[in-house]
Amino acid sequence: MNIRLDQIPVEKVNGVGARRAEELHAVGIFTVKDLIEYFPFRYEDFRQKSLGEIKDGDKATVQAKIVGLPIVQRFGKKTKLSCKMLAEYSMFTAVWFNRGYLKEQLELDREIIVTGKWDGRRLQMNVTHSEFPDRGTIRSGSLQPVYSVAGNLTQNSLRKAIASALDQYGEALEEVLPQQLVDKYKLMQRPQAIRLLHQPGDIAEGQEARKRMVYEELFLFQLRLQAFRSLNRDRRDGIVHTATNSTIREFVRSFPFELTDAQKRVELEILEDMRSPYCMNRLLQGDVGSGKTAVAAVALYTTVRSGFQGALMVPTEILAEQHSRSLQKMFEPFGITVGLLTSSVTGRKRKDLLAGLQMGLTDILVGTHALIQEEVNFRDLALVVTDEQHRFGVNQRSVLRRKGYNPDVLTMTATPIPRTLAITAFGDMDVSTIAERPKGRVPIETYWVKHEMMERVLGFIRREVGQGRQAYVICPLIEESDKLDVQNAIDLHLQMSEALPDYKVGLLHGRMSAAEKEETMREFYAGETHVLVSTTVVEVGVDVPNATLMVIMDADRFGLSQLHQLRGRVGRGEHASTCVLIADPKSELGRQRMGVMTETSDGFEVSRRDLELRGPGDFFGTKQSGLPEFKVADMVSDFKVLEEAREDAVRLVEDSFFWTSPAYEGLRGTLETGDLFKGELID
Ligand code: ADP
Ligand code: MG
Repeated sequence: MNIRLDQIPVEKVNGVGARRAEELHAVGIFTVKDLIEYFPFRYEDFRQKSLGEIKDGDKATVQAKIVGLPIVQRFGKKTKLSCKMLAEYSMFTAVWFNRGYLKEQLELDREIIVTGKWDGRRLQMNVTHSEFPDRGTIRSGSLQPVYSVAGNLTQNSLRKAIASALDQYGEALEEVLPQQLVDKYKLMQRPQAIRLLHQPGDIAEGQEARKRMVYEELFLFQLRLQAFRSLNRDRRDGIVHTATNSTIREFVRSFPFELTDAQKRVELEILEDMRSPYCMNRLLQGDVGSGKTAVAAVALYTTVRSGFQGALMVPTEILAEQHSRSLQKMFEPFGITVGLLTSSVTGRKRKDLLAGLQMGLTDILVGTHALIQEEVNFRDLALVVTDEQHRFGVNQRSVLRRKGYNPDVLTMTATPIPRTLAITAFGDMDVSTIAERPKGRVPIETYWVKHEMMERVLGFIRREVGQGRQAYVICPLIEESDKLDVQNAIDLHLQMSEALPDYKVGLLHGRMSAAEKEETMREFYAGETHVLVSTTVVEVGVDVPNATLMVIMDADRFGLSQLHQLRGRVGRGEHASTCVLIADPKSELGRQRMGVMTETSDGFEVSRRDLELRGPGDFFGTKQSGLPEFKVADMVSDFKVLEEAREDAVRLVEDSFFWTSPAYEGLRGTLETGDLFKGELID
């Protein structure tokens, strides 16, 4: 009893060796708890049909045996790999396009699983997804969980590791919810729900299991927010910032533009918080390009002029670079020092930086999550700003907060969401909104075209680039495979280079080293490359005002908020900008979503229409950026549960019994191990 799964490293699981452990670490799985709570985002139906049952043109999954030698044919740059397969008693040909590298794995007699579109006339399957489980591990007739994987981690090894962990440690799973709540909503018990979520017998069982975990997740989330709230309601031990208005005005006057009214209003809200003895905990939401960075700069300036240090945490190295560069430029004339810390800052440089930080020689530190490492110590941290908030877990933010003594916290997000949702979702925060863009911006024109228009789009790119502007071309997104995303980017880069021989085309994707990414971005900033082919790594915050054209391939694969973010990379300078969505959506919903993008360029409107189109009922929902992310819950489709969970949590923390009774010890424990407000609970 009382085995702490969150303290057992994943290496202890039978069958998980050092190499597998490393792969698991790469997706954020470090402990047995992480592994067991790494839930699938959908199931693949391997309840076998024979080929005869599948209708022509349907997408289906079959298990089949390789009975022929693989043949690779090349047509220009395309490759076609085909192989004879046997499923039960029917022969067919499986065909892969541009996956020549799979050839080696197509060994005679090997049983594999292929998913794709069935062409009944030619007895052929165009494979879009193939799996090579070791012989004997296919649980045919079942639902197979599909997990999000990355790097060298495969579905199959993850499934095995989870099954093994459940065997070994399943006994240690315990109920965490108060029994009255389990009864109230007729929830499945926790150990059973966890098992069934990974290995449901049928869809209904999976749904019951999911319902239970959704409630748990949202309830524990709300419990932490509400507990924090109730503990901090009357605290007046925040930092009082004392910089005067005239000092601050001097800084604002140095900007090459005048703040918009919305920026000024929000600035006042922030300054009021910073000057009060209460701890600021404020969410600043504003559409892409609304000028949040300038607002953050004023807050950082205020903290330095009040005698303290500030930190700005951003989700990617590219952004960290960019922000440190622009802040340096703004602050240099005022004798304020800005340091940059990412995982690529190493050796002597890192040492000096960290030493300077501790002595207070560095006033402002900009960086990635490298900022929350233990070795990072401030002398006097009084303001923590995080940009593009949805990329950080609440925990990461609170670790950073603990590097100071009750610093003020400003969280910025470029994914605006309706206020009611924001208040429930971020329960503990005050919300400030910038709903206006700087004047003089020419609105971005958005067009949606089909793939057959590609030649025209290329012509358009040539024209823009010919006029001295720059363009982004974003690669299609391939779910659950980082590897294919990269392959796609490389292919597309080749095609673009060929189609645009007179221009220089750059390439950016997640598998490049930090130094390579930095160099690619530098070339693009400097205008040395004209077109940048990229995966979604440019999604957040990148600011190249000369870029005026955003082309998004297979745009229907992206979520609306993501499309809006991508579109926000252009329209940042004086020139008119255009966004071209290339998509042949198959569903009505897909067409409507493209329609939303062409009809409005207002982020709040996009998000409102997005929520409207979403409706509940998705099995696993869709991950909505801009909101806290959960393992199974989705704030939008599970909004009703979120509200119930909130009421339950409020009721519980208001009951003094909750804080004292041994019956709630376990639940109180989740407040601490959940780590969110550890510091605050102890003080
Ligand atoms: P966000 O972070 O909200 O997406 P940024 O802060 O990056 O937006 O601002 C986008 C661009 O607009 C930057 O180049 C910035 O210098 C510029 N900018 C910010 N505020 C104003 C303003 N009031 N008037 C004109 N330009 C502005
Ligand atoms: Mg920004």
